[in-house]
Amino acid sequence: MFGLAELNWGDTPKDQAAAKDFVLRVLDLALSRHRWEELTYEPPRAKGYLRTYRSMVEEFDPATAGGGTDVLPGPQEAAMASCVRHRVLDALPFWEGCVFCTAGV
Ligand SMILES: [Zn+2]
Repeated sequence: MFGLAELNWGDTPKDQAAAKDFVLRVLDLALSRHRWEELTYEPPRAKGYLRTYRSMVEEFDPATAGGGTDVLPGPQEAAMASCVRHRVLDALPFWEGCVFCTAGV
């Protein structure tokens, strides 16, 4: 099972705050429907899921994390797996692939 406390949020309070801020900014961007028009469908529950996930992250204190080995993919890993055609970061092997390439469109 995936849990926020199992991620490695960084060793220092500064790194942890930066990591949390990054995740919140990504979620805010998603909530602003950034590039949703490129989806081939209207995700009816996405907004609710994103809001729930965002409040979980908001309330989460990275200092309580176990410092696990699961880390958020760094820029290098993400860039290595970005889909040039769709301008999407795949973050392989964390995800299966570009959401558009694998959508079968
Ligand atoms: Zn693609």
